[in-house]
This record gives sequence, C-alpha cells and structure tokens, in this order.
Amino acid sequence: MAEKRDYYEVLGVSRTATDDELKKAYRKLAKKYHPDTNPGDKSAEAKFKEASEAYAILSDPDKRRQYDQFGHSAFEGGAGGAGGFDFSGFDMGDIFGDIFGDIFGGRSRRANNGPMQGANIRTSVRITFEEAVFGTEKELELNLKDECHTCHGSGAKQGTKPETCSKCGGKGQVVYTQQSLFGMIRNVQTCPDCRGSGKIIREKCSDCYGSGYITSRKKIKVGIPAGIDNGQSVRIRGKGEPGINGGPRGDLLVDVDVSRHPIFQRRDYDIFSTVPISYATAALGGDVRISTVDGDVIYTVKPGTQTDTKVRLREKGVPTLRNKNIRGDHYVTLVVQVPTNLTSEQKELLRKFDEAMTGKSKSSDNEQESGGKSKKRFWK
Ligand SMILES: [Zn+2]
Ligand SMILES: [Zn+2]
Repeated sequence: MAEKRDYYEVLGVSRTATDDELKKAYRKLAKKYHPDTNPGDKSAEAKFKEASEAYAILSDPDKRRQYDQFGHSAFEGGAGGAGGFDFSGFDMGDIFGDIFGDIFGGRSRRANNGPMQGANIRTSVRITFEEAVFGTEKELELNLKDECHTCHGSGAKQGTKPETCSKCGGKGQVVYTQQSLFGMIRNVQTCPDCRGSGKIIREKCSDCYGSGYITSRKKIKVGIPAGIDNGQSVRIRGKGEPGINGGPRGDLLVDVDVSRHPIFQRRDYDIFSTVPISYATAALGGDVRISTVDGDVIYTVKPGTQTDTKVRLREKGVPTLRNKNIRGDHYVTLVVQVPTNLTSEQKELLRKFDEAMTGKSKSSDNEQESGGKSKKRFWK
C-alpha cells in the first residue's frame, strides 16, 4: 500500500487553515477532478477521492483534532481495512451537499426532495390534411391532476400536518453501507417509509386519500400551427402533472396524427397530386381544372402534352411552421386518359384519325373479331 499523503498537503492548505479556506481549497479540487467532468479518467478519480477524504476529515472538528494528534493512524483498523477509507460514518450529503450544489448547479444528490417539475403528459389528436396545412384549434378532454383543495397538496387530514419521516429524518433517502472486497460501499436509496417525500401522513385527507392530488376531467384548447406534419407534436407548457414540493407543473405534449387525403399527398412542405386530362386536351392543348388546398385553379395545358408531365404550382403547398407566409409548392402530374366505352361513331372518327396519322387502313372486320366483352379490355 502506497504511503498516504498528508491531508493538508492534499488540499494544499496550511495546518492552521480555517473552515472557509478548507472549503475553498476542496471546492477547487473537486471541480477539477470530479468524475462527471473527467469521465473514465482513473487518475482524476483517485485525486477526487483523495481530496474528498481529506476534506471529510478536516471539515469535521473532532476528526481534525484526532488527525492532528495521531495522523492517519487515527482512522486505521476500522471497517475500511487496507487503504479503503470508510465513509460510512459520514453524512456525505451534509458535507458535500452545499459544495456540489453550487459546483454542479443543483445536481447535488440532496436535491431529491426539493422542488421538482411535474411529469409531462402525452396525448394525441387526429386532424384533417387541410387542418394540418392551415392550422386549427382543438379542444381536448383529459384527466388532469390538481392539488387537492382540502389539504393543499399535503395529503394530511384537515387540521393535521404531515410529520417528518423518522427513518430518513426528512431527507427522503437512506444510506446503507455494505462491506465489499474493496472496502465499504455506500448506497443511497429512496427511503422505504416515506417513499422519498421525507414526510409521513398519519391521518389521510378524506378527499384525496392522502395523495395530495385530485384528478378531474378537464377541457384544454390546443392551438395547432399551420404547417404541422403527421407525427410532430405540440407542447403546451404548464399543463402536465403538478410539480412536487412547490415545483412547476410539467408540460402537455400532443402528438398530431394527420388523416390521409383522397387526392393530396405531402412531403415536407410540398403537396403532390395527379390530374387526369383528356386525350384531345393533351394533343390540342386547353384548360384543365386542378384542385389545390386554396381551391381550384385553371391551368392551360400546352398542345402535345405527354402523359406524366409534371406541373409546378408555386407556393400552393404547405405553409412552413416558422413562417406561414413562406409556402412549399404543389406538384401536379398530368395523366393522359385513354378513352373507354366509345360509341361506334367515335370509333370511326378515331380510325380515320389513325389512318391519317399512319397512312394504313384498319378494316372494321378486325374490330368485329375482338368484339363483345373483350372490347373493353382492348381499350384499357
Ligand atoms: Zn387532500
Ligand atoms: Zn423517510
């Protein structure tokens, strides 16, 4: 076992250092070597432990006196055994709580029964394609917890107060020490008697049965912004579960399910649709009516338009979530329809048209052979 360094030397203070000087010195070292700031660094971890041990001893007036008198031998032969410092006699929370509290912004383990934000609630809402495009407001009905009016959240019967839990002294946590191969191991667990609240209720409030909360059916209006897409969610701050020990309420998260549209498909902020045009319109050009989310528009098709021609209608798509004045586009695929169920007069005209195009003659005998039911199939 390596020679143990002097505790004053570890902290870099004189033997006459005041409590404040000790604290300052330890805070500096703890910040530098804390495992959270040096993940996986074994030597930093060792230095952190060494400094913590030194501070644990020197910050305790009794232990410091013993150390001054006997040195390291004052604490040897205890449960810690070979080189393992036994922290079991210390309330680490009391020693380090305030230090870690201000080093790590309230991440101190003692914050367990301090004010905590309530849990978030998740729910979902179904809206139409158009509602997603232009935004909407929905009223949701859900079960919401509120502080009990009778006991004001304490859970105790009127006229009584919750008592401080005797098992954990109100801390909400209990410390178990365990002997292991490497010395004492200290486990912090939620207090089994008060389940972490630090309080025991002897007589329960009759309205909330001791929970401190009342659940009621509430209506909540949810504003859904223009441009929202399927699978996205809306956050409503402060409409989740009530906070603990005076903490703020959690949030309500509303997942948005957008129904399919019979004509429109969406990708990001663009809309896609297919519009049939007649054979004659495709060949000769002409006006077609195209449905958009803003209503129908008339589009003039050029003569000789082929099937699968894509048309872009600028800014007829979905408004963006950031700025509803900026919109995607609407892409239309024009599909030329081959005519079906022609009358004999129409067929004759088409034959003449075909002759004019190819110079060959198609006898009406051919048509007779494929007549009857198969005719339909022929044209499809
Ligand atoms: Zn109550
Ligand atoms: Zn307790």
